[in-house]
Amino acid sequence: MKTIGIIGGMSWESSAQYYALINRTMRERLGAPHSANILMDSLDFGPVAEAQASGDWDQLADTLIQSAENLEAGGADCIVLATNTMHKVADAVEEAVDLPFIHIADSAADAVCDAGIIKIGLLGTAFTMEEPFYKERLEEHHGLDVVIPEAQDRAEVHRVIFEELVAGQIIDESREAIRDIITRLVDEGAQGVILGCTEIGLLIDQSDSAVPLFDTTQLHAHAAVEFALTQ
Ligand code: GLU
Repeated sequence: MKTIGIIGGMSWESSAQYYALINRTMRERLGAPHSANILMDSLDFGPVAEAQASGDWDQLADTLIQSAENLEAGGADCIVLATNTMHKVADAVEEAVDLPFIHIADSAADAVCDAGIIKIGLLGTAFTMEEPFYKERLEEHHGLDVVIPEAQDRAEVHRVIFEELVAGQIIDESREAIRDIITRLVDEGAQGVILGCTEIGLLIDQSDSAVPLFDTTQLHAHAAVEFALTQ
């Protein structure tokens, strides 16, 4: 079995999910008492969130490159960057180390395509929904047609992520708000919705949506297990 290297802590609430999902999936695949070989470098999200807010992406790229180098030096066989937003600097990280990089948007897009869906809604931080790095990957590499919420709804999803979910707060009113936002994406023609933030699955599950949801935390964790089991 290969060793899965995880750059985590963004936030640790979702990194904990990755840890559990990867180990649980490995146990399902190989039988108890198997579990995964994992190396996690878990960062302090405080300065990361500050640098995101001030737009200091060069500094963030340096931080993630250092983390990827730590994982490589520690014996990891791949890099799993356990956040959608930080894939804004994925190219720099991928170039810096000599390890396969399992891109979270590819993990999501593969599942969407397997489901026969073309027009897909996207929920995530403002960075993920509004900037090209994520949408273009889905559209140009995978042929998807991406729908994002209107401005007010994007602001609400971003607020819920940063004020509540990364702080470990699960609030019913916010679940209702996200449900309504999903309904409006469906009204716009979305045949499914990518939960393109690794914490949204803490608040929302398939019972909150009339169309299929694609949880990037689950899909990325499963892709990591597939990689680890490939000869
Ligand atoms: N974990 C989140 C994501 O998947 C948001 C936190 C961050 O901005 O890094 O995008």
